Formats: sequence, C-alpha cells, structure tokens
Amino acid sequence: MTNIRTTAIHAGRSHGQPGEPVAQSLTLASSFYTAPDIPIEFGQSAAEPLPFYTRWGNPTVRLLERRMAALEGAEDGLCFASGMGAIAALFLATLRSGDHLVISDVCYAGVAELVHDMLPPLGISVSRVDTSDLAAVKSAIRSNTRLVYAETPANPILKLADIAGLAEITSGAKIDLAIDSTLATPIATRPIALGSNFVVHSLTKYACGHGDTLGGIILGASQRLIEIRQSSLIHIGAAMHPFAAWLIERSLHTLPQRMAAHQHGALAVARFLSGHEKISRVLYPGFPSHPQHELAKAQMDNFSGMIAAQFMDGGMLAQRISQRVKLFAYAVSLGKSHSNIYYYPTEAIAQKSFHLSGAALAAYRDYAGDGIFRISVGLEDPDDLIADLNSALS
Ligand SMILES: *Cc1c(COP(=O)(O)O)cnc(C)c1O
Repeated sequence: MTNIRTTAIHAGRSHGQPGEPVAQSLTLASSFYTAPDIPIEFGQSAAEPLPFYTRWGNPTVRLLERRMAALEGAEDGLCFASGMGAIAALFLATLRSGDHLVISDVCYAGVAELVHDMLPPLGISVSRVDTSDLAAVKSAIRSNTRLVYAETPANPILKLADIAGLAEITSGAKIDLAIDSTLATPIATRPIALGSNFVVHSLTKYACGHGDTLGGIILGASQRLIEIRQSSLIHIGAAMHPFAAWLIERSLHTLPQRMAAHQHGALAVARFLSGHEKISRVLYPGFPSHPQHELAKAQMDNFSGMIAAQFMDGGMLAQRISQRVKLFAYAVSLGKSHSNIYYYPTEAIAQKSFHLSGAALAAYRDYAGDGIFRISVGLEDPDDLIADLNSALS
C-alpha cells in the first residue's frame, strides 16, 4: 500500500469474511484462552504471539501497532500507555550501567527531566547537546555511546534536527539513533527511511487527535522490539489500554486529512501573528523566516500545526490572553481538534527542565527570548482563530 491515505485506513487488517465487522472490534479482555502445550515464553518472544495476557499484547493494540508501522515504514511497532512510557522503556532497554546517551538539549520537558534525574543514578551518563548542530553531536560521541536521541521539531521552540545527518554519524559508529517524531507525525516525516533505528511518538497528540486519551509507541526492527517487549513492556508494565488503542486506531483513519488542515490553519495563524505589532518573533517550520526552513522543506512533507511565538512583554500578556481567549484553550498538550495556547517562561523551563546555562541557554534564548507561547492550531476555521487571538491581544 503506497498511498498514505489508504494505508491510514487499511494497513494491518485483512479483508473480512461475511458476518465479520467492518469496523475494528474492541477486545476488552485481560487474558486469553491458552493450552498446556503452548510455552509461556512464546507469548513473550515470538514476533506474532497468540494473545495471552493484555500486558504482553492485545488484538486491538496489535492493529494500532501494525497500522503505525505501515505509516512509518517500520518493520513493527510496540505500544505503551503514554509517550513517556514508550520513551522510558526505550532508554531502559537500550542503555545499561556504563553506557552513554547523547540527547537534544531541548526536547519534551518530561524526557529532559527523565534523563537528568533518573539515568545518572543508574550509571548511565548523559550528554545534552544541540542536535541541530551535527558537529556538536559528532564531538559528543564517546566509545561507550549507545544511543543518540533527538526530537524534531523539538518542543517547545520547534528547532529541527537533520535526521539523515544524524544517521550518518551513528551508523558508522554502530550507535542506535532514535527520533521523537510526535510533532511531525508520519504524514510529515518518516525517520526510518532517513536512517533512524527507532521512532517514538506520543500518540496522545496528533495520532489521537481529539485530546481524549494517552498513548505511546516505539517503532523499529521486529527483533529489537521483541527484546523491548520482554524487558521493558512486560516487566515494567506500562501497557496501553485496548480502549485507548481503539480510539487512536479510529483517529488514524483521518490523520492525513487532519494534518493537511492543521498545516493550513497554522500557516494562516502564523501569517497573522507575523504581522501583529505585539509579536516579536514567529517560529513556524513552514515559513522562510524559520532558521531551518530549508531543512524543513527537505525533511517534512507537512509543516504541522505547531507555532512558537514571542510576544512583547509575553509574561505580562500570558495572564490576559489566558482569560480572554474564547476558542483557544489555555492548556498544555497539542495536536488535537481543539486549539491550544500555552506560555513557557524561559527562566523556569531552562532551569527546571532543561538545566541550560552558558552558551546553551543563550542558544535557547535566541529562539525563545524571555518566554514563548506554544500554539497548537486545531481544526477550527482559521479566520475564527485569528479573530479570537486578535481580540485577546487588543
Ligand atoms: C507529549 C509528548 C511526549 C510525552 O508523551 P505523553 O503521551 O504525554 O506521555 C513526548 N514527546 C513529545 C514531543 C511530546 O509532545
């Protein structure tokens, strides 16, 4: 299946027999019939085990894994209860005491906090580098580096990383490369084809698209995912609930059309913001003014619905905007039909989440100033969203 719109609806399913449901059925069961001659290890280690226990795998979850794998051009996928569940599982499965991780200095705050607070006590050393700078990544590699992890576009400043360039560095050194592609989605970017070993997503965002459930996934080679299933899914237990999988699978049917609409709306809102007197900087990968617009054009088939904007006196305006917007929700999270806006003061996030100082802090300030509004443009009419922002700003 080569057309992504068809893949988004059909991949992973077989054509049914008379009497079978056309829509996906929801399998709510914690366990499944088995037999004494089916060894328990089979459920853990086979590529396609019989359903056995839902923490190990579930037919509804399995369909979502297959669908996402087809969209990403990956051999297989493994779902988790949340994006953080998937990312923590990836780190714990690929890194051991004595190993070294290279990671974006700016990425999803929860991931930045996880690698800062929880990996060093396990004996895993971490270098946080600007992954938009390939030379910086190259010089951070050590003999014990096992994983390079980058997020593109990176939350919340929409800085990009050159996936093919990173893969060139890691493949020669036999280091795994993992890309958090949550903001891009497989509609925009397919990191496996660019040389990445793993892709992770918070399915909570665009894949779910309606803001009503959490979910996460790791995609990559089957054999690697079998190992991760055994070590980090079955034993740590952050398994996805089948109802979450059912909601997200249903949402994937419209992912291509939704991403087109998110991009259309974001372009209009970004254009409005760029011309507004109270806005000092607009970062949108689809704009020529984005510092990495050329990379965005090469690596992204869709510029997504996320905008980062610096407002004059942003800290003072945040309170007013939060009270005056009527369509935008002043809230975290992103990628849903409902538009969101949220303010990230630089001082707080740079200290508490990213632990930036010196040149790294200056580089962050270059994008974010004293603070940045992260705007997730939903599926409302862009004219209405612009009117909403305009009245909140006036
Ligand atoms: C939200 C998010 C995560 C974490 O996902 P959860 O589903 O909230 O656990 C990780 N990476 C990115 C880029 C995100 O936006």
